[in-house]
Amino acid sequence: CSSVTMRHATSHCPLIVGASARWRSNSKASSTKWALLLLSRDATCISDLDISSSADVISFCRKRGVGMVVVGPEAPLVAGLVNDLVKVGIPTFGPSSEAAALEGSKDFMKKLCDKYNIPTAKYRTFMDAVEAKQYVKHEGAPIVVKADGLAAGKGVVVAMTLDEAFEAIDSMLVDGSFGFAGSRVIIEEFLEGEEASFFALVDGENALPLESAQDHKRVGDGDVGPNTGSMGAYSPAPIVTDELKRIVMESIIIPTVKGMAAEGCKFVGLLYAGLMIEKKSGLPKLIEYNVRFGDPECQVLMMQLESDLAQVLLSACWGGLGNVSLTWSPEMAMVVVMASKGYPGSYKKGTVIKNLDRAEQASPSVKIFHAGTALDEDGNLVAVGGRVLGVTAKGKDIEEARARTYNAVDAVDWPEGFFRCDIGWRALRHKQV
Ligand code: ATP
Repeated sequence: CSSVTMRHATSHCPLIVGASARWRSNSKASSTKWALLLLSRDATCISDLDISSSADVISFCRKRGVGMVVVGPEAPLVAGLVNDLVKVGIPTFGPSSEAAALEGSKDFMKKLCDKYNIPTAKYRTFMDAVEAKQYVKHEGAPIVVKADGLAAGKGVVVAMTLDEAFEAIDSMLVDGSFGFAGSRVIIEEFLEGEEASFFALVDGENALPLESAQDHKRVGDGDVGPNTGSMGAYSPAPIVTDELKRIVMESIIIPTVKGMAAEGCKFVGLLYAGLMIEKKSGLPKLIEYNVRFGDPECQVLMMQLESDLAQVLLSACWGGLGNVSLTWSPEMAMVVVMASKGYPGSYKKGTVIKNLDRAEQASPSVKIFHAGTALDEDGNLVAVGGRVLGVTAKGKDIEEARARTYNAVDAVDWPEGFFRCDIGWRALRHKQV
C-alpha cells in the first residue's frame, strides 16, 4: 500500500505516507483484501492512494478526517508534499521541500556545515570533470566522490585509488549515470573511524534527541560484498556514549536546526545524522543527513520507544517539542533483515514464506516488520521484494537481543531467503574491549 492509517487512541488517526510501499505491487483485488486483513492487527493499509499527487493525499485526508500526516520517503519530501499539506492546514510531520534539501543536495548540506561550523569532511564541489580530477590528483587517494542529488544510496564512491576516483567522476559528470543528481559532484576527504547514526526530532526550533543506532550496509557476513539498503541494525550504538550524544547535539544537531532557521527554512521532522566517529580524535563528523526515519533503524528505535509516538510527532508539528520528554526501554533492540536470495542483484519474486507466527513466539519481545511481502491467491505469504522481513527483538544486552532475534529468524521457513549471521558484531566487540 502507499500509506497506512494507524489504529490509535486519538480520535483522528495519523496517516503514514509511504509505509510499506511495496504492497502496491499487489494489485489483485482478492490479494489486496488479504493484505488488509494481515496488516489490520496494527493498521489499515490503503492500497490505492497515489502519494506523488498532493491533491489525492489532501482529498483522502479530508474524506477520512486524518488528524496528522507523517511523510516517510525522501522523494515526496523533496517534491514538496509537506508544503502542500501544511498550506491547507493539515498537521504534517516532515520537512518542507526547501528543508529536505539537507538530504536532497549534498552541496547544500556541506555549505550549511561550512557556514555554521558543523564538523564534516573537507570537500569541494565540481561541475567540470577536468577540474574535479585535478583536485583529486592534488588531494590523493583514498578519497570520496559523491553525486550531489538523490541517488538511492548508489551515488557515493569511496575510491581507494586515483583511477577509481577518476572513473567515478567520469561516470557522474561525463556519462551522466545519475542524470541531474550527478551533474554536480562533491569530492570529499576520506574519514577513518566507526560509523554510527544519531536521530533527533525537530519542530523548527527545538531538537529532541532520540537514540543512536548502527547498521550493516554490506550484503555479506564480515561486511563484504555490495552495498544494500541495510541488512540489519541495533540500537543504541555502544560507541555513542552519553558524552558523545551531548557533543553530537551541541556541535551538529543544534547548529543545524539554528542554521536552517537562520536561512529561512525551518526544519520540522526527523534529522537522521550519519556520523563518522573519527579514529584519531574520537569526535564525530557529519557524513550525511537523511530527513526521515531510515529502514531498518526505525524498527529498532520504535521497539525501544515507550512514549506515544503519535503525540510526540504532533507536538513537533505544532512547535511544542520544548515541553516533551521521552521514555525509553532500558533494553537493546536488534533487527535482522531477511532478503530474497540474489538481492541486491536480481531475485525471484513470489517465493513462499511460512512460520511467521512460530517465529514471533520463538522468544519474548519479537516483532516482525514486513517490507516486501504480499499474499498470493491461495493465501500464502510470498516475497515480492529484495529486503522482505525485518525480524526484531529486544534483550537486556546485545547478547540477549541477538539470541532472541536469531531464534526468531531461524524459525522462519523461507528456503529462498537469506540473512546475515553476524549482525551486531561491532557492539559485541565493544563489550570485549
Ligand atoms: P544513503 O544510502 O545512506 O542515503 P548516501 O548515498 O547519502 O547514503 P553517504 O551516506 O554520504 O551516501 O555515504 C554512503 C557511505 O559511504 C557512508 O555510509 C560511508 O560508509 C561512506 N562514506 C561517505 N562519506 C565518507 C567519507 N568522507 N569518508 C569515508 N567514508 C565515507
